[in-house]
Amino acid sequence: MGFSLLLISVIISFIIIIAILVSVQKLNDDPYEDLQMDEWTCPECEFLVQAGNECIYCGYKKKLND
Ligand SMILES: [Zn+2]
Repeated sequence: MGFSLLLISVIISFIIIIAILVSVQKLNDDPYEDLQMDEWTCPECEFLVQAGNECIYCGYKKKLND
């Protein structure tokens, strides 16, 4: 009885540690970090691009160091 209780405690502790590690990793690895969210007008076709660095209309790639 004592051993299985210890085993359950170890498993629960392990799950909690995994959950903390996963949440910390999610905070550090933000999927929206690289995504450009400000609007810009394509110089090639004057299409207003809502998000991203590439014009979805003509495929023009915006220069990052402007
Ligand atoms: Zn364009």
